[in-house]
Amino acid sequence: MTESVLAAVRTAPSTTELQEFPMPELPDDGALLRMEVAGICGTDVKMYAKPVIAEPVIMGHENVGTIAKAGRGFVERHGLGEGDRVFVEHYVACYRCEWCKLGEYRHCEATDWRTNPDARRYGYTSCEKPYHLWGGFSQYMYLPWNCVIHRVPDAVSDAEAGIITPLSNGIEWALFDTGVGFMSTVLIQGPGQQGLSQVVACVQAGAALVIVTGRSRDRARLELARTLGADHTIDVDLEDPLERVHELTGGNGVDVVLDCTSGAGTTPVLLGIDALKRRAGTLLVQGELAAFPDFPIKKLTEKAITIKSARGHSYRAVELAIAQLASKRFPLHLLTTHEYGLDDADLAIRAVGGEIGDGVVHVSLLPWKE
Ligand SMILES: [Zn+2]
Ligand SMILES: [Zn+2]
Repeated sequence: MTESVLAAVRTAPSTTELQEFPMPELPDDGALLRMEVAGICGTDVKMYAKPVIAEPVIMGHENVGTIAKAGRGFVERHGLGEGDRVFVEHYVACYRCEWCKLGEYRHCEATDWRTNPDARRYGYTSCEKPYHLWGGFSQYMYLPWNCVIHRVPDAVSDAEAGIITPLSNGIEWALFDTGVGFMSTVLIQGPGQQGLSQVVACVQAGAALVIVTGRSRDRARLELARTLGADHTIDVDLEDPLERVHELTGGNGVDVVLDCTSGAGTTPVLLGIDALKRRAGTLLVQGELAAFPDFPIKKLTEKAITIKSARGHSYRAVELAIAQLASKRFPLHLLTTHEYGLDDADLAIRAVGGEIGDGVVHVSLLPWKE
């Protein structure tokens, strides 16, 4: 094993530097992960331009790797050790609070940088903190006793494992949060990796009608949505999406609206409220905007709409996402369109941000790729 570890460090907004770190000295309850894939998502694009942590950070919060070295305490606790390939949730939990007991590590304060200045979260933690290797844009990552890991079966390739996070979110948001199931009607806004993952979750759950919206530049993604089982797609640049939804639902509207857009302002929420059925529909929102001017709360309450927040994934959602990938029921490899090496971390993030043109669905960083 090498003496030092190479990592791409975000040193300032939109700036990456390759840096070397010493190989960490492992405590008995820690482990070292040899990185295979770090998936990149829209959150990385935002955090790269406007970091939420001022100190230098190794980004990469959707991580898969092989345990290269593990202390005895770590193996005892996790039942996983050297040679096991694992998906690492970005939440580093306390394992003591009520949320952790429920497998809802996403809600644990130990991993919440918003309320806890000493929080640990992969891709969001200063590399000046002990053990340094707190992100996936690195050859190795440090795993403390309180990491949250899942075994990845051999049937799932490294590239496929790179999309475990969006698929987990698909299961969490569509199935657990908004209750999509047998014969549900659903509008998914945005055909990116997250929207497409919702399609897969909704189709497998038995939804009767899945409609996906996108822009003219998303032509290939909308086609992929149909390949994955969406019944209809709407190009909002060419068609009136509300009119189309009413046409496709016999004037009834849909049961559930899932907002998976990025940078679209208030439009998707306003469309969602109008596209939902007459009473008791459910709307999942992203909360990209700090405030919502002229929010139509009257319409919302008159329609008895429930709002749910897009807020990561639970342990169970990840387990189901891995099982779904392993089942090979859907051609999910079609989502994994671009791969970059560590040298190109900056380019990889910009590719997700749409800077290299169309055709990008999911981008993976492979830290050992030449
Ligand atoms: Zn992400
Ligand atoms: Zn906790």
